[in-house]
Amino acid sequence: MSRAEHLLKDHELRSTPVRLDMLSYFLEENRSLGVSQLNTILADKYDRATVYRTLKSFTESGILHRVMDLQEENSYALCDSCKEGSHEDEHVHFLCTNCGKNQCLHDVSIPAVGLPSGYRLKDANMLLEGLCPDCS
Ligand SMILES: [Zn+2]
Ligand SMILES: [Zn+2]
Ligand SMILES: [Zn+2]
Repeated sequence: MSRAEHLLKDHELRSTPVRLDMLSYFLEENRSLGVSQLNTILADKYDRATVYRTLKSFTESGILHRVMDLQEENSYALCDSCKEGSHEDEHVHFLCTNCGKNQCLHDVSIPAVGLPSGYRLKDANMLLEGLCPDCS
């Protein structure tokens, strides 16, 4: 069984060609990918609606999480150990200004922010910019 098949099984999703293709790509690249990028890569096999639907089921089942990016409309990256309906992706993302890779730093958590009273935090994103190990 491939890693992609394992991931789908772990999250109780059926293996379909589009799911396997997309997941394999994420596993191979090991960085965040934007929707337009995915559409371009998968365009000869799947239409936009299929790509969109697949992203939705992946985020709902804890396989992918949304990543804040500077230029992309929507970017996604693989989760570390999330489950269906509960994401724990409070980690920092690092954007390399040289090669453009945006990677999850799973071991670096977002520092707690003291909010004024009346504000309730639901989600936190932190994007750091700099040079990745390959480029520095
Ligand atoms: Zn997650
Ligand atoms: Zn780099
Ligand atoms: Zn991440």
